[in-house]
Amino acid sequence: MADTDFDYDLFVIGGGSGGVRAARVAAGEHGAKVALAEEDRYGGTCVIRGCVPKKLMVFASGYSDVVDEAKCFGWDLKQGPFDWHDFRYRLMKELDRLEQVYRKLLANSGVETFDQRARLRDAHTVELADGTTKTAKHILVATGGHPVRPDLPNADLGIVSDDIFHLEKLPKSLLIIGGGYIACEFACIMRGLGVEVTQYYRGAQILRGFDEEARGLVAESMRDSGIDLHTGTNIVEMSLASEREEGGQPTGSDATMGASAQQAADLRESAEGAKAGQSGPIWVKSTNGGEKVFDMVLFATGRDPSTHDMGLEDIGVKLGRRGEIEVDEYSQTAVPSVYAIGDVTDRVNLTPVAIREGMAFAETVFGGNPTPVDHELIPSAIFTQPEMGTVGLSEEDARDREPVEIYCTSFKPMQTAFAGKADRVLMKLVVSKETRVVLGCHIVAPHAGELIQMAGIAVKAKLTKEQFDATCAVHPTMSEELVTMRKPTRTA
Ligand code: NDP
Repeated sequence: MADTDFDYDLFVIGGGSGGVRAARVAAGEHGAKVALAEEDRYGGTCVIRGCVPKKLMVFASGYSDVVDEAKCFGWDLKQGPFDWHDFRYRLMKELDRLEQVYRKLLANSGVETFDQRARLRDAHTVELADGTTKTAKHILVATGGHPVRPDLPNADLGIVSDDIFHLEKLPKSLLIIGGGYIACEFACIMRGLGVEVTQYYRGAQILRGFDEEARGLVAESMRDSGIDLHTGTNIVEMSLASEREEGGQPTGSDATMGASAQQAADLRESAEGAKAGQSGPIWVKSTNGGEKVFDMVLFATGRDPSTHDMGLEDIGVKLGRRGEIEVDEYSQTAVPSVYAIGDVTDRVNLTPVAIREGMAFAETVFGGNPTPVDHELIPSAIFTQPEMGTVGLSEEDARDREPVEIYCTSFKPMQTAFAGKADRVLMKLVVSKETRVVLGCHIVAPHAGELIQMAGIAVKAKLTKEQFDATCAVHPTMSEELVTMRKPTRTA
């Protein structure tokens, strides 16, 4: 088939961050004829049900501590109630605005869009939900991922992160299952918004895979802020509290974990309207035998790639164990005309990575310049309170590889210490003993996300500890410690 026989040079399935960027660059910069299909809202996980609304909720939740702190700085502010409806209205308006921006960006680049589901019929053909087919020289799958619930009877009584932004009412009490990014971020957000938060994590410490000391401080700070965090604990059973109760009293609740009839009644009232948790308070039994009733349960137990019923395997695209599309370093699948980027490939599931994969794909296929995606030394932040920013190797991973020096300091930051708070921050560098290169940087502090972006440049550039030290401190800041730690805390 000649190139001109195809309807398009590129058909993109999925209008999230990665797909939209690939489509725009292919059409706008390389002059390709491009179409894109999206079955839901443009912007994908990040813009519509992930990073953006989450971060706005982080901001909203941060104000709950401001009044007390401000008093210590001489301000007499009054704490009013948090108005979820008002905030949610503004949030939805902002998401509408951003979706329009995404649509305009595509239109201005000359990308034709189809607001419907698409699946692959063959290596060059896409079938749309309305039954029409489109052919393309290249097809890019950028369908992202979706949250998954554990395999547990009645798990559909719990909500997932997608549902949070649409709650009619905030719950009074919330149980969060999981100890990853989403679980910890929403535990802090909801606590800040005044919700009683309990968190069960099955492992020994939350945020598995991150630097031990850093995640230890995050866990400690979360507990200090009032989050009832239980590690080594999981949910084993759940059902509607009303189905287990007689006269509002949950059966079998023990003294430590049970809810009173009044609590159960309160919960019933405040649970009204939550989308997935609409049905009322939920009785939960945990691995340690405890039973408790919660207003709402949030499963933050991971995300799976969205490859179901896409026709991928039928045409020879290989999928991994979790349904992820297997690709090479150029994001090419086992079918040469089909590429995949972003969370659907389950490489590094972060928006900026999907965007880079999209740009590398466009450069490779339409720019004639094969460009592999660099997945090394990607900085990231977890928007807990305090935030955690990280780039490079954890102390544990680094010392498994080579002898290292650890430079670490933990202290009370000026602003909250002045307000009499016990909050601590952590600044940590993991340094190769042999090369002196800074292998990892870990920060737990307010705005750690902002700080790690800057530190990430130095770590990515493989600067040495001595080059860090040669940089003059900015005083007084928290992050000046990154250039003033002279003596190793320990060697390993
Ligand atoms: P994660 O994989 O980070 O965490 C999933 C959590 O659920 C883990 O603690 C896991 O435990 C636990 N879990 C999994 N299955 C079960 C089960 N059956 N029962 C109980 N617990 C279970 O997934 P998230 O959904 O939090 O986030 C998905 C991805 O999205 C992240 O990896 C990240 O790439 C991205 N993300 C990034 C953010 C950011 O950059 N700030 C914010 C949010 C998401 P265990 O550790 O034992 O496996």
